[in-house]
Amino acid sequence: MNVRALALINVAAIQRNVERLRRELKPGAGLCAVVKADGYGHGGRACARAALAGGATWLAVASAQEARRLREHAVQAPILVMGALSPDELEIALAARGDVVAWDERFVEAVAALGGGSVHVKLDTGMGRLGTRDPAQATRVAKVAAAAPGVRLAGAMTHFATADERDDPFLYEQLARFEDWVTPLREAHPRMVVHAANSAATLRDAATHFDLVRTGVAIYGLDPFGEDPAEHDLEPALELHTRVAAVKAVAVGESVGYGRRFVAPAPTRVATLPIGYGDGVRRALSDNADVLVGGERRALVGTVSMDNVTVDVRAAGAVAVGDDAVLIGRQGAERILAEELARRLGTINYEITCALLARVPREYHRDGEPLP
Ligand SMILES: *Cc1c(COP(=O)(O)O)cnc(C)c1O
Repeated sequence: MNVRALALINVAAIQRNVERLRRELKPGAGLCAVVKADGYGHGGRACARAALAGGATWLAVASAQEARRLREHAVQAPILVMGALSPDELEIALAARGDVVAWDERFVEAVAALGGGSVHVKLDTGMGRLGTRDPAQATRVAKVAAAAPGVRLAGAMTHFATADERDDPFLYEQLARFEDWVTPLREAHPRMVVHAANSAATLRDAATHFDLVRTGVAIYGLDPFGEDPAEHDLEPALELHTRVAAVKAVAVGESVGYGRRFVAPAPTRVATLPIGYGDGVRRALSDNADVLVGGERRALVGTVSMDNVTVDVRAAGAVAVGDDAVLIGRQGAERILAEELARRLGTINYEITCALLARVPREYHRDGEPLP
């Protein structure tokens, strides 16, 4: 490896994860691949292509700019722009032929004033963020959308707050509220696409699938329940590699790194790896992570700095400058999941991959074969 740090993304894994999720779907339901936040840090365009190759029929993003970027790269699939949009952003989203989400009549009028577009009405059944809590209001918005010139009532949606908590019954409260609202609405508008499920709901219960599921985290091979993606036959698509840049002997009482957080209790050897919080490796992993070097787990010791981390390679065989080091992924028989780092940091796997900064180049491959 000739760069200091590299995110390797296997697009074949994303394609297979989508195929695998589609096998889970209620007959007739489609899959919308959520590629917001640059594909959860994996790279939006490449992931969108891989998901479409796996049979996704829709894409979803959060922002108008994300939709525009996909269109600039010749992505033709329908794109749902899920986020709230300012007037300027609405214009960008519609120009990108993005479907937009509405919960108030004035927004639908703004869509019409901009020449029209496709609208999905959102009922807030308990997430408490976007959408209207009032089913009558949501129905009024749908009526306005169906009648406004140039506007198409394309969908009806909601979003679950607790689908990832397996035993939490709130999912079913939300589902009941959504069904009460959407059932009569869909009778009046049978061509509407009805959608509610995120990855966790998709895996938890086919009753949440409706016409389309909006799966994000699972298509990247991350476990929506934060445990082990293999339990759901999902393959992690991203590996984070760096290299051994220096190895040095550290005598008893000598320290390594900022603040002298690590002081050698016994003679040891420490490898420096050129990756740090300036790449998205969080400083809270100081003295709190393992790294794979030479096919074994080694303890990250001392403080994570902006550009480097240090690893105790005392027990290692011959660790040499230039050796591969893995922060997320496999090496030999060992593996480190994003879920493991999330647990150590008290966060979720989503945040681990989204946190990878632009300084880390993304390299795409298909089961080890470089992409053309
Ligand atoms: C991000 C998002 C999703 C995808 O959620 P995952 O848990 O990643 O599957 C679905 N719907 C909405 C509205 C979202 O914001």
